[in-house]
Amino acid sequence: MPIHTIIEPFRIKSVEPIRWTQRAERERFLREASYNLFLLSADDVLIDLLTDSGTGAMSIYQWGAIQEGDESYAGSRSFIRFRDSVQSIFGYTNVIPTHQGRAAERILFTVMLKKGDIVPNNTHFDTTRANVEAVGAEAVDLVIAEGRQPGLLHPFKGNMDVAALEQTIARVGRERIPLVMLTITNNSGGGQPVSMENARAVSAVCRKHNIPLYFDACRFAENSYFIKLREQGYQDKTPRQIAQEMFSLGDGCTMSAKKDGMANIGGFLCTNNDVLAQQQKNLLILTEGYPTYGGLAGRDLEAIAVGLQEAVEEDYLRYRIASTAYLGNHLHQMGIPIVMPPGGHAVYLDARSFVPHILSERFPGVALAAELYLEGGIRSVEIGTLMFGAAAKMDLVRLAIPRRTYTQSHIDYVIEVVAEVWGKRDQIRGLRLTYEPPFLRHFTAKLEQV
Ligand SMILES: *Cc1c(COP(=O)(O)O)cnc(C)c1O
Repeated sequence: MPIHTIIEPFRIKSVEPIRWTQRAERERFLREASYNLFLLSADDVLIDLLTDSGTGAMSIYQWGAIQEGDESYAGSRSFIRFRDSVQSIFGYTNVIPTHQGRAAERILFTVMLKKGDIVPNNTHFDTTRANVEAVGAEAVDLVIAEGRQPGLLHPFKGNMDVAALEQTIARVGRERIPLVMLTITNNSGGGQPVSMENARAVSAVCRKHNIPLYFDACRFAENSYFIKLREQGYQDKTPRQIAQEMFSLGDGCTMSAKKDGMANIGGFLCTNNDVLAQQQKNLLILTEGYPTYGGLAGRDLEAIAVGLQEAVEEDYLRYRIASTAYLGNHLHQMGIPIVMPPGGHAVYLDARSFVPHILSERFPGVALAAELYLEGGIRSVEIGTLMFGAAAKMDLVRLAIPRRTYTQSHIDYVIEVVAEVWGKRDQIRGLRLTYEPPFLRHFTAKLEQV
């Protein structure tokens, strides 16, 4: 018999128990949380697929490096290791640590943007959009048309529409576009990858108009592996080489180390522009910390330095992409509507097709997420009408997979729970709001069954 099973490329050294609850208890917890899974205690969740951000397991090498953390205020050894690790993959001359990705975004945009400016991106992540808008600029999403259709198959649904980028530059003028961004993988667009060909084309347009190109690099390793699997000419390249080639097309990046940094906290900002880097460091000192720690402990810098190297290991990425596809493909084969193909870090259920009897204004995604919790103690997150209001184009339920945290039997359990809920989908009821905060309402809103 051929050996084809892709196994977890690690064994477990330290375990964290998860807690079973009874359905009657979960009914009570859900009512107490007003049907908003953000308001649950994590201890009352069996399998937590709320996010892949900062929730992964670290390796023995990361924990070992943490012991070596140098907590010197300035010029620490840990910063040197961190900087060298980042540069070995990203290649940019200036590396500025920050406490998270959004801090890197705020510093980048505060220094580069002014009111009335425009930033094109394939799809802005929500914190990226909020930080662009916070300085009075406009965030424009230019993902290809295929990237907006959940059921459609395309190898690189995260690609930017290059013609639309050219048109945007022609329409508003180069002086109003201080930078272009490319998000790899495209998180808000379903974790879909961007091809090297597309990044090269976007880079060429930027170079022609002398506009800097920055990557939102949070899932750069997963994106590199998709290129290896799907793009002609990259089969024999390593994920590291692919990442190096991709970053050479740009002028800098923002990064959340809570994703492909394989750490629980941290981020960084890179640029090849020394003048900008000086301004960025000045702002960093004002709000984050000295440029050799940027709001992080020395031990965090060590964990990221090691984690980045582990993220580009081929055995890890093969397992990572295969395990997300395993979940997505099983659900798809049962006829359960999901965003296709499965992304790198998450599988998205299409709630409008799953529970078509629930109108958008009755929050089908929130109702479905609540049912997954009731049925099997699984926590997911709605990305739809509760998050974006009436402007939401889709109602999705995201099952995000933390890195190196759950095994295949956990995922088999998730598949069974979703299948069980699919079997009784007709009985799922819609919800209405009983409390709504003025902004980012999905985090704290309260709801009740209609
Ligand atoms: C998570 C994320 C961010 C923000 O990073 P934080 O560390 O959560 O602040 C920015 N862009 C993308 C694509 C992300 O996934």
